[in-house]
Amino acid sequence: MVMKIENDDYCAYRNAISMWGCTKIQLKAVEELNELSIELVRSLNGTGDYHKIIEEITDVMIMCEQIFVIFDDGTFRKEWDKKMQRFKNMLDKNKTEEMERCPAPQSTSP
Ligand SMILES: [Mg+2]
Repeated sequence: MVMKIENDDYCAYRNAISMWGCTKIQLKAVEELNELSIELVRSLNGTGDYHKIIEEITDVMIMCEQIFVIFDDGTFRKEWDKKMQRFKNMLDKNKTEEMERCPAPQSTSP
């Protein structure tokens, strides 16, 4: 996910920021992050619901885009590239034959 926000979405986010302000947007982002973390813990405990996780991922991604609109100063792409390179280097160092196959993601309940 590199932030390429559709124009309609960008306008909606700007409106949300104008309507509710940066503080409330950030509080809502924290709330959504917590909701996702709860669903992930439930999944790890065997009581998770796949659709709730997808719903919370979507909420978090929408809030991340709003946070991005608030904070972006033009350095995001550079930071993204730096962190992705570090991530890929870490994967390369720990690569196993099993990882080479790159299995498709699960689309059913965990
Ligand atoms: Mg939510």
